Amino acid sequence: MVKTRNYKFRLYPNDSQQYKLQNNLAVCRWVYNKFVDFSKNGFVSRNDCNYYLTELKQSESWLYKYHSKMLQSISAQIDGSQKALIGLNKKGYHAGKLRFCRYENYRTFTYNQTGFKLETHGDKTLLHLSKIGLIEIRQHRSIPENSNIKQIIVTKSKSRKWFACVTVDIEELLTNIPKILFSKSVGIDVGIKSFAYDSNGCQTPNPKNLQKMLKPLRRIQRKVSRRKKGSNNRLKSILKMQRIHERIANRRKDFQHKLSIQYAKNNDVIFVEKLEKLNMVKNHRLAQSIMDASWGTFVQKLEYKCKMLVEVPARNTTINCSRCGNAVPKSLAIRIHRCNVCNLVINRDHNASINILNKGLNKLPQELREVTLVENPKGSMKQEEATGLVRW
Ligand SMILES: [Zn+2]
Repeated sequence: MVKTRNYKFRLYPNDSQQYKLQNNLAVCRWVYNKFVDFSKNGFVSRNDCNYYLTELKQSESWLYKYHSKMLQSISAQIDGSQKALIGLNKKGYHAGKLRFCRYENYRTFTYNQTGFKLETHGDKTLLHLSKIGLIEIRQHRSIPENSNIKQIIVTKSKSRKWFACVTVDIEELLTNIPKILFSKSVGIDVGIKSFAYDSNGCQTPNPKNLQKMLKPLRRIQRKVSRRKKGSNNRLKSILKMQRIHERIANRRKDFQHKLSIQYAKNNDVIFVEKLEKLNMVKNHRLAQSIMDASWGTFVQKLEYKCKMLVEVPARNTTINCSRCGNAVPKSLAIRIHRCNVCNLVINRDHNASINILNKGLNKLPQELREVTLVENPKGSMKQEEATGLVRW
């Protein structure tokens, strides 16, 4: 079986290389905008774009100075974005048409299949990009031996750092199919007060990454707005602001990766609520917290790390009593669940997470349910029964 993995490494280009990378971005953007213009009268396929590109090259011979595969990858990009737009329009969104890209918003180019090589010189690793040269790369983790690199995406972050996303295909023998034990399952409730509360009673407080950085962020935003438009000083403070934004995003990612890996390691099956669309974000403070928490990306990370993730409809999970099923309506402010039928007193989120777990276990197909923790506490499940639902 072939597994695809992405590794993101920081690049350290020198001044002339930085100039070349930036130049590549500018050219890609120019071609991209040509394609956008080309597609204004309706859908153009990848092949159409490639034909158009060869025509362009005849009149604009300077395009030959750039890696041809890189320019061709823009055709695929245009093809994909058009299809995505068509899909959105079909669903009823007013997505509109492709738009021209501004200089500062175009920040990535792709080397597909050819034109790149990772080389080691002593203790340094260098990335060779055709038509650009050898760039220092900080390879902070090793790529497996039995893998081949498919493509490299070079990205410039908003705070002007350069990164390389290395996509590799890893050959893996199908010897160790993960065994799924339903006794090792957990339900997770996500919320604002505590970021995650699981059915084992473990709670993780909300890190509030944005709220902690609001003060410096506000300060720099004021500074930006005081500076004269188009001035160098404004540009400098914008850069500082971008760095703060990036730091917030990095902290958020770091926290989510650490938490999700913990859950994936300790549990085989994870049940989560199906997250609703954000139609509740009318309260401004609440909206900010919800956006900051970004549970969606957390669930994404869980999904690719754990053996099996099941989404459960969120209906009544906070209201119902997890022991007897009695409905106990409560507002957001009430943090404790008190049931007057079975006298259960429990944290509100804990109650919800147990409900999610039970709901999830009931949702599983019959033949899987019979070997769940109720009847088979040791959870010695047979392999054949599990493979149908394994997520890779
Ligand atoms: Zn009860």
